[in-house]
Amino acid sequence: MDDTAYGTTNRPWDILISGSGPSGLAAGIAAARRGMTVCICEKAAHPGPMPRGETVHDHPIFTELLGEGFMESISLHATEKRRYNSPCSLKQLDFVRSTPSIVFRWEEFICRLYENALGADVTFRFGCKVVSGLIGEDGVCRGVELSPGGRIYARTVLACDGHGSSLGRQSGVCYGHINLPTVKRLASGFNGDYPGFEFFFITQGMLDYAPRFPPAVIFVFPRESGHCETGMTVFTRVAESLCKKCDIPSREETLRVWKRLVLDYPRFSELMKGTKIELEYYTELPNAKLHEPPMAIPGLALIGDSAGFIEASGGSGISSSLQEAAICAEFLSQADAPAWDEPLVQRFNKHMTDSGIYRHIRKVYRLIGIFQQLFFGIVRTAKGVNRNWWLLKLLMPLQ
Ligand SMILES: Cc1cc2nc3c(=O)[nH]c(=O)nc-3n(C[C@H](O)[C@H](O)[C@H](O)COP(=O)(O)OP(=O)(O)OC[C@H]3O[C@@H](n4cnc5c(N)ncnc54)[C@H](O)[C@@H]3O)c2cc1C
Repeated sequence: MDDTAYGTTNRPWDILISGSGPSGLAAGIAAARRGMTVCICEKAAHPGPMPRGETVHDHPIFTELLGEGFMESISLHATEKRRYNSPCSLKQLDFVRSTPSIVFRWEEFICRLYENALGADVTFRFGCKVVSGLIGEDGVCRGVELSPGGRIYARTVLACDGHGSSLGRQSGVCYGHINLPTVKRLASGFNGDYPGFEFFFITQGMLDYAPRFPPAVIFVFPRESGHCETGMTVFTRVAESLCKKCDIPSREETLRVWKRLVLDYPRFSELMKGTKIELEYYTELPNAKLHEPPMAIPGLALIGDSAGFIEASGGSGISSSLQEAAICAEFLSQADAPAWDEPLVQRFNKHMTDSGIYRHIRKVYRLIGIFQQLFFGIVRTAKGVNRNWWLLKLLMPLQ
């Protein structure tokens, strides 16, 4: 496609997408396949530059966007098993899901989405950072402002730029309230004795070297032979309700505690013994709260991590953001009004929030929020959580 003339006031793109992670690529494919002109601006030099989630439960959306059998073809490992370890790993709860989680390599997944987006005629601009939406005097978003300079005009802008989205902030998202400090590590030399996913619950006050550290969960996901993904998510939202007892940790404090846990935590340290770090970084997971509505500024919608659209029970955002992106593209391809006005915004938000996946994400947030307050806020101590460990069984239907 000759795209040189697109993106001007006279000839705006149908859709301008900020970010080429899973949600941006999915929205691009779904919209372009429906005949819309699409441009994706990505601040990095290539799509989805940093690996984030690398496990999913199969869903028809993967076949729709990636092709029949693609997820199986990149599967490194699949497991239905889950093991939850109570504080100090004193008790364990084993659970078997009805369907397996598929473990894959982020790069292969992103690469296929990118190829399919190119195949659908999506235009990419790399090294192109979106700094804000261009809002007209009528309050409608007409495109984006770029760094280091320049503007691109579009009928609709989709913020798919993740947990620190500038378009999200402009739409009123407070990322301080929805992002949770998270460490991700990929390791080799892993020799675990359990093939399923393991979780370790850390309660407030149980670490003598960090008595004011908030509750957290460590995860260990075995991958192809001798490899694993591991890391930790810190529940800073619960910490706010325990404000006299714990602090919101800095990045340095989170990494310090993480390194101590790797060295000295029952069972987890055993699993980590002899492993070699292949990749490790600190990030944030927008998994404390769903930001609503998806469209606050007419013509500018938030998709995926930019709105915390993640299934809170497992921090899973890939499948949900792909589904959300496809539902959004479906609406945009059918919208009959010539421009964004209040009735169209209301119809868009209703279309999105009435969808099955939206209602599911909202419900899981509500239930997990209650559970976290109960376990980490009210029962709170390691002793109390160990005594009430059976309560965790109530959550298993959400897994
Ligand atoms: C450690 C960790 C483990 C996870 N594990 C799982 C898992 O096992 N299963 C699962 O389903 N989910 C998991 N998730 C969540 C999942 O990775 C995210 O929900 C998913 O990546 C969201 O996709 P996204 O496209 O909305 O955002 P992102 O993947 O964050 O992509 C955002 C894109 O926007 C670009 N960008 C950012 N700012 C700008 C800008 N201003 N201008 C232009 N481009 C910009 C970025 O470079 C990036 O390419 C995990 C997340 C983390 C952090």
